[in-house]
Amino acid sequence: MSLEDYRYDIEMCLRCSSCKWVDPMWAKSKRYNKICPISSRFHYDSFSCQGLMDISLAILDGEIDYNGTLADIVYHCTLCGACDVMCKRTLETERLLVIEELRKGLAERGLAPERALSRLSKFVDERRNPYGASEAKRFSWLEGKRRSNLKSGAKTAYFVGCTSSYKHPEIARASVDLLQSAKVDFVVMEPDEWCCGNPLFRTGQVKKAEGIMNHHLEVIREQGIETIITSCAECYHTWKVDYPRQHDRKTLGYRVVHITELLADLLKKGVFKFTKPVDMTVTYHDSCRLGRLSEPHEPWSGKRLQYGKLEPPKTWRRGTNGVYAPPRAVLNAIAGIKLLEMERVRENTFCCGAGAGVKWINRDFALETGVERLTEASDTGARALVSACPFCKWNFQDAASKEGSEMEILDVVEIAARAIS
Ligand code: SF4
Ligand code: SF4
Repeated sequence: MSLEDYRYDIEMCLRCSSCKWVDPMWAKSKRYNKICPISSRFHYDSFSCQGLMDISLAILDGEIDYNGTLADIVYHCTLCGACDVMCKRTLETERLLVIEELRKGLAERGLAPERALSRLSKFVDERRNPYGASEAKRFSWLEGKRRSNLKSGAKTAYFVGCTSSYKHPEIARASVDLLQSAKVDFVVMEPDEWCCGNPLFRTGQVKKAEGIMNHHLEVIREQGIETIITSCAECYHTWKVDYPRQHDRKTLGYRVVHITELLADLLKKGVFKFTKPVDMTVTYHDSCRLGRLSEPHEPWSGKRLQYGKLEPPKTWRRGTNGVYAPPRAVLNAIAGIKLLEMERVRENTFCCGAGAGVKWINRDFALETGVERLTEASDTGARALVSACPFCKWNFQDAASKEGSEMEILDVVEIAARAIS
């Protein structure tokens, strides 16, 4: 696709600003009624989806060209998709795909920020992870019984991801403990697990990300793996949305589940139970890529007819069918857990601030956005802020340190693992 392919979508921006605000039906206060992180922080219209549609139209019409100023705006955007689902409440047009196209156009012209290239691309190329850590140490957290209890030849793989492997191994360990306690037969893709490609997809380096995708697809074909389990919202999105977008879906041959979906299903069937209480008041953060952006990618080709009608009809990803219930079901199944909700939940969630490379590229802004969400979490009165993504945990922990907050930052699987051991 190219920007020109989205001309109709871009021209059909009504300049209504709905992409900046929480759905009015869900808004509860003036304090927390904004939804676009860049618009909330910078206020200028160019720092919003609405402004980016205007800029895209100017590029298409040859009035301006890709440049460094645009790169600064577009690489602050966390690609959280809030604008996309808010706009789709009234219009059947793509928004996030346009912004991703802008990133791609910038990257192709060498205008992506240096950190996206040196920190992410170079490290992923050379060490198979965006942290520049040793490839050989990727599975060093997997020891003892956890390792010996893996089921060689299983058709299910736990895809750990870089952030759990290197920054939050407690999430990887808790996930393995839960899967083994639930008697799920699984393997890990050692030594063939690389970065899923998410940082490259998101920073516009799509060709490189495709190389990683092809590697993983070959590995699961060779090993006969049919199910991928992730405990990372970013990896989940990559396997569920990005790979099928870049590849013929019919030949992919796998399904992907987030660990909270799997556990919620086993709990519902009564084949898995928590055995110990965990006394804690928590609030749950819906990660963008596990929530509003996790609906499957449905390929579409056809044409626009009069009044924007599509022939054949297209399945729109509106964000309402994301993975919202399973993490809450897991938490609610643990005796002693009291779950308090934040104002911005489900498709109206507010991004943690770290996604789409922003944690590397614009660190201060990522932190400020994390603090904004941490404040909202703290206002619920909960003692712990819980997410289902190591990337969110990383940014929230940094935000809590910056603020001197006493709030505990945890992943769902960490709490769940406390309820079985
Ligand atoms: S992108 Fe959608 S919600 Fe935002 S101003 Fe344009 S039409 Fe309105
Ligand atoms: S993707 Fe998120 S940060 Fe980017 S313009 Fe849309 S709402 Fe704002």
